Formats: sequence, C-alpha cells, structure tokens
Amino acid sequence: MSVNLQTPIDYLKGVGPNRADLLRKELGIHTYQDLINLFPNRYIDRTQYYKISKLQRNNADVQVIGKIIEFKEVAQKRGKRLVATFQDETGTMELVWFRGQKWIRENLKLNKSYVAFGKTNWFSGKYSMPHPELELQEEHEKNLRSAMQPVYPSTEKLSNSGISNKVIIKIMQQLFIETNGNYVETLSDNLRSELKLINKSSALFNIHFPKSQELLSRAQFRLKFEELFYIQLQLIIKNLVHKSKIKGFPFEKVGNYFNTFFKEQLPFELTNAQKRVLKEIRADLGSNAQMNRLLQGDVGSGKTIVALMSMLIALDNDFQACLMAPTEILSVQHYNGLLEMCNNLNISISILTGSSKTSERKKIHNSLENGELQILIGTHALLEDKVKFKNLGLAVIDEQHRFGVAQRSKLWHKNTSPPHVLVMTATPIPRTLAMSVYGDLDISIIDELPPGRKSIKTVHRYDKNRLNVFRFIRDEIAKGRQIYIVYPLIQESESMDYKDLMDGYESISRDFSMPEYQISIVHGKMKPADKEFEMQRFVKGETQIMVATTVIEVGVNVPNASVMIIESAERFGLSQLHQLRGRVGRGAEQSYCILMTSHKLSSDSKTRLETMVRTNDGFEIAEVDLRLRGPGDIMGTQQSGVLNLKIADIIRDNDILQLARFHAKNILKIDKTLSNSENQVILNTYKQLTKYKNIWNYIS
Ligand code: ADP
Ligand code: MG
Repeated sequence: MSVNLQTPIDYLKGVGPNRADLLRKELGIHTYQDLINLFPNRYIDRTQYYKISKLQRNNADVQVIGKIIEFKEVAQKRGKRLVATFQDETGTMELVWFRGQKWIRENLKLNKSYVAFGKTNWFSGKYSMPHPELELQEEHEKNLRSAMQPVYPSTEKLSNSGISNKVIIKIMQQLFIETNGNYVETLSDNLRSELKLINKSSALFNIHFPKSQELLSRAQFRLKFEELFYIQLQLIIKNLVHKSKIKGFPFEKVGNYFNTFFKEQLPFELTNAQKRVLKEIRADLGSNAQMNRLLQGDVGSGKTIVALMSMLIALDNDFQACLMAPTEILSVQHYNGLLEMCNNLNISISILTGSSKTSERKKIHNSLENGELQILIGTHALLEDKVKFKNLGLAVIDEQHRFGVAQRSKLWHKNTSPPHVLVMTATPIPRTLAMSVYGDLDISIIDELPPGRKSIKTVHRYDKNRLNVFRFIRDEIAKGRQIYIVYPLIQESESMDYKDLMDGYESISRDFSMPEYQISIVHGKMKPADKEFEMQRFVKGETQIMVATTVIEVGVNVPNASVMIIESAERFGLSQLHQLRGRVGRGAEQSYCILMTSHKLSSDSKTRLETMVRTNDGFEIAEVDLRLRGPGDIMGTQQSGVLNLKIADIIRDNDILQLARFHAKNILKIDKTLSNSENQVILNTYKQLTKYKNIWNYIS
C-alpha cells in the first residue's frame, strides 16, 4: 500500500484539526510530504559517553559517567547555588543547580555512579553542567537509549501550545508507521551507484532517527545532494531553453582588428585569468547561441581590456559594439582609455552621455544608423529610443549592479535579434551563490590581479588615535601622495551625516591648513558642475586631500592617491568598504586603507573590520558578507529562493553544490530531454517538483 504524500496533515493519527492548524501556521506544514521534509536542526547524541578530560568547549549536550564526591553551597548575588564535584578517572567537573537544591541534596547519593546529561559550559578553568539530567548508572543501563534524538525546529507558539519536541517526534514516528517508511526513489540508479548514495527511504529514516553517526552523515549527504541537484537541473534547463530559442549572431572569425591589437597594441601581457575568460567569451561568440555572460572580477583585475578585445571581435565580423557605464565620470574614463589603446587601429569610437551637445548627438545618431560608428560608449543615454544601431553585435555593461534587469533587456531590443551581452561587475557575488542565482547566465571569473600590484595594507584605528593618523597623512603628502577621507551617508540619518561630514571637513581644514594643503570636498548635495570641478582638482593633483561621501565609490581612478581613510567604518557594509578601498592601490606606490571607528562595536562590525584587515580578496569578503547578512540581502537574490533550502546550506555545502551542478550538467549533455530510460526517475521527480511548486517556485 502506498500512502499519498500529498495527504493533508490533518489526517495523520495524533494530529487533529488544532495541531494541524498550528503546524500549518507555524512551520508551513500542510501535507505528509511537508512533514517528512521537516528536518532536525540538530541531534542529541546519547549513544556516547564522554570522559571529562575529552570534553570540548562546544556547548554540545553530552553524557558523562562519574561520581559525586562532594556538595558545596556557593553564595551569589541573589540566594546561593549548589555545586557538586563530579569525578571520573580522567578528571573532575562541576554540576550546578540554581533551583530545587533541597531535593537534590536529599535524593542524590555521594560516591555512586551516575550518568549526567546536559550542556557543558567552560567557566573559570572548569567544565560545568547546569541542571543536568541525572540517572544512576545501573538504572540507566536498564533502559539504554541506543539512538540519537532529533531536535526539530520549533516556535514559541508551538511549545506553548504543547507541541514540544517530544510531540513532534511522536508525530514523525506515526508518519513512518503509516507510510511503512517506504518512499519513492527520486534519484537514478546511475547517480546513486556512482556517488554511493543511500536510497531515499533509508535517507529519510536516518535523517529523522539516525541509527549511527555514519548513517546520519550519509543521509544528510544524500538529501543535500538531491536538493541542490534539482535546483541546478532546473537552472541549467532554463539556460538551455534560452540558448536554443534565441539565436545569436555567430562571430565566425577573429580578424584584423583583434589580431593587430593583440600583436601590436596590447600594452601588457594578459594574465592567465584574462586569457581564460577571453577564450570562454570567444567560444560563446562563435556559437550560434546568443551570449549572456556575467564577468566577475575584483576591482583592478583588468576587465576593461577583456571588454575591448571582445568588442574587437564584433568589429571583425562587421558588427557594432557598445559599452555602457553607470556614471559620466566612468564613461569618460573608458572613452579616453579605449581611444588611447585603439590609437593605431583606425576605429571610430564616440561617447554619448547626458551632457553631450545636441549637434554632437545628431552626428552620433546618424553615424550609428549608417554603420560608420563602430563603438559607442556612454551612460544610460545609450538606452534612449533615438539611439539606433545599424547592427549592434555586442553590448557590454560595466558595473552591472547599478543597472536594473529592465535596462539590460532594453539594450537587447536595440536590434532585430538581440546582441551578445557581457555584463561586468566588481561586486563579487560568492561563486556558490552566483551559481544558484544566476544559473541562467554563464559566468566568467577573473580571479587574479595583474602582476606587480602591491597589496593594500589595511589597519583599524580608534578615533582616539586620530593624531597618529593625521601624522601619517602628513608624511604621505610630504612624499607627494594624495589622500581620500570618506564619510558615511546613510539615508535615514542624512542631516546628521552631513553634519558629521562638515564637522570633519572643518577639523581637517584646521589641521591641514592652506596654503600648504589644499582640500577638495565632494558630496551629493552639490551641483554636478561643482562636483566635477572639485573632482578634477583632485585628479589633476591640485588638491592633496579629497573629503567625500560615498559618491566616489564607483570609478574614480587617481593612481597617485595612496591612502583611503574611512570614517565611522563600522557603519559601512563589507562590500562598500571593499569598493572604497579599491580606489587606492592603483599606482606603483604602497597604498593604505585606514578604518576609523569609535570604541563601541557590535560583534558584526568587529567581524567586518577584521575581515577587511585580514584580506584583500573580494570573493572571500563576499563570502563573509553572505554569512553575516544571509543571502536574502545580497544584490539580486531576494526572489531567488536560495533562502528556502530545506537542508543544504549554500555556504557550507559548496562542495556538494559543485558536485550537483557537475552531474546535472553531465546528464543533460548526454540526454537533453531526460528521455533515456535510466533518467526516467529524474524526469518524474523533475515534473513532480515543478508541479508542486513549493521550494521551486522561484524558477519560473
Ligand atoms: P577593472 O577590472 O576594475 O575594471 P581595469 O580594467 O580598469 O580594472 O584595470 C585596472 C588597471 O590594470 C588598468 O590600469 C589596466 O590598464 C591595468 N591592467 C589590466 N590588465 C593588466 C595586465 N594583464 N597587466 C598589467 N596591467 C593590467
Ligand atoms: Mg572597471
């Protein structure tokens, strides 16, 4: 007899309408299936006994066999506590009671073997166990517990309504009785034998009622793999469908522009990472499918040259290309850079931004439409309807997190058939997350900086050390360097923040007074022209110090600036700190980042600061950020559903994720429609999952 797992939970013996209601509301459990997927948070291991000398400082619930050799009462602020010295052949620990002391004194026997069970604390050089469960060893052996006990997620409301962990265990046992513990297999024999995965029924049994630590591990592995495998399978299918539906322009040849540039103009040797990424892009461009690729690379990793060389391939195939950047400053920088690099190639390049003059615009519109203009660089202005290409073959978007998806798709429709799209970002999304969230984009990663970069030295200083910091600034300026000092600007407390900025500016002006020192100030309340003027003074080296809010976060390139001071650094997020730090370290000199904070720091702030001091690796920083904030807050993941994982953990189970992706890819490579008989199980499960969209509903 097989029980339908879609049966409402009300029908399970021992549940009833009230409990069913609570389970639905509190844990989202509607069906038998939902209940069986309620996985324990942890387990209490009562199969082992620990020696006192082997206890660990990990707060686990453990069992210890020993004898109470004495009791003492210890006075404390209010009342007293009862402390028993508990001893085994390896050492002593303390058992502690704050309540019920009379009963304990009267009922526990000295020098008799007891099994003590509970959480251990490490306190002034000793382990102690508050309010342990105690059982005489001889009693304990009569009703030996051989299995580990699951501890299920719960809510206050549930436990207040009498649905304790014990009750959930009971209900779960009932479920296994009614279903005979027999569940439909959801992975193919091939996969199971190749990866030595235990079968579904055994996995479900052992995840709830593990027979041993080993079986628990295998159950967890199998279920995590399965969860991640089906997510990856769906993402990859989505990607394949996209590729087969949308035809791209095959760029068949690599021609003169690319080759001449490569042989004669390339200003430096490409890093291995750049070469690898270029290969990936070339393969995409040469295929019949439309490229949709995300290029991730830390600040300064050299994405621009990759973009340029990709655009040259488009030109070699008689197509036009465009490069869109989020700010005018950045567009101008790209324009000048590309002009210089393409100096001898005889390519027509223009720039279009909000401040382009009307006559200039007209010229650009015309030469775009008749195909004379080959590369167009610019801001959002590129998206205006008037901007029409003759044959746009490749669109590159820089710092894609500044643009919405809608804008990306607008670029797509600049042609009869969508151009290849390359989006570049320096906001590293952890690999693991990128794989699950952007599974429908292909991803390239530049994970190597050009040679010879001196890594930026980062330190954390408290406000009271400000005098030392100022002395350091003075020394650096004396060496000819320039300094950024950045203040936070958080929307909610805007006026306070401006006050901080202006106070800071004043005190800096006092310490670094004219005419010896010149200071620029830039913030969001200034007119664009004034901002630009101040910025230019700094770029030209006329001012030595730039006091600013985070407007400088993106794009500014002043290689001579070698010190970044971030005020109230505890108020910035990790990715913002990393972006800001990326403004220095662009020249030949040793650069520094100084994180200034007050003395009061939350533990998250401390972690952020320590991370910044420890590493310059944007991906590592992104991983910490993800751990601190959870995936929900990270750009673009809000609707992604990675939060809804039932058992796998997107960070800790990275290895399993890779494995799952690898196998999902492999299977689809050989059997795109999952129609081979050996993949029948996978197809059925896939259909089932997309039919009962619960955790899968984000894959639309
Ligand atoms: P980002 O990835 O932040 O956009 P850029 O493309 O602006 O980085 O490159 C940063 C700097 O590194 C530029 O000055 C660029 O010329 C230089 N650069 C890029 N690739 C290399 C390389 N392979 N060797 C040496 N310098 C490089
Ligand atoms: Mg860049």
